[in-house]
Amino acid sequence: MAEKTVFQKIIDREIPASIVYEDEHCLVFRDIDPQAPTHLLLIPKKPIPSLAALTAEDRAVAGHLLMMVPRIAQQLNLDAGFRVVCNCGEQAGQAVPHLHLHILAGRAFGWPPG
Ligand code: AMP
Repeated sequence: MAEKTVFQKIIDREIPASIVYEDEHCLVFRDIDPQAPTHLLLIPKKPIPSLAALTAEDRAVAGHLLMMVPRIAQQLNLDAGFRVVCNCGEQAGQAVPHLHLHILAGRAFGWPPG
């Protein structure tokens, strides 16, 4: 059996995380190495390895993740704006092979991203 990712261990409560939201399909917790005053990770509970690995079967969960973004932003009062980042694959800097959306807020962000 493949070794669990760090995010799967958070889902399974094998390692601690600062969880800000949870439902049947997803989990939101604070990034351990924040790149902005607010830095959250929004993940599906289903172990989908990356955005590129989504299949038609994942349509509902993918839609749910996207729909959760403004709800989380509202819950945390990110009224001044926020950035959503999804690193997909090695060259994009994806380190954890479990689909995740970074939600960053609390400072100005440059463009293009590094
Ligand atoms: P990525 O580089 O897009 O794969 O992002 C992975 C993110 O997971 C990084 O921002 C890490 O800081 C974060 N991370 C890794 N381990 C943990 C952990 N145990 N708890 C919270 N965030 C983590």
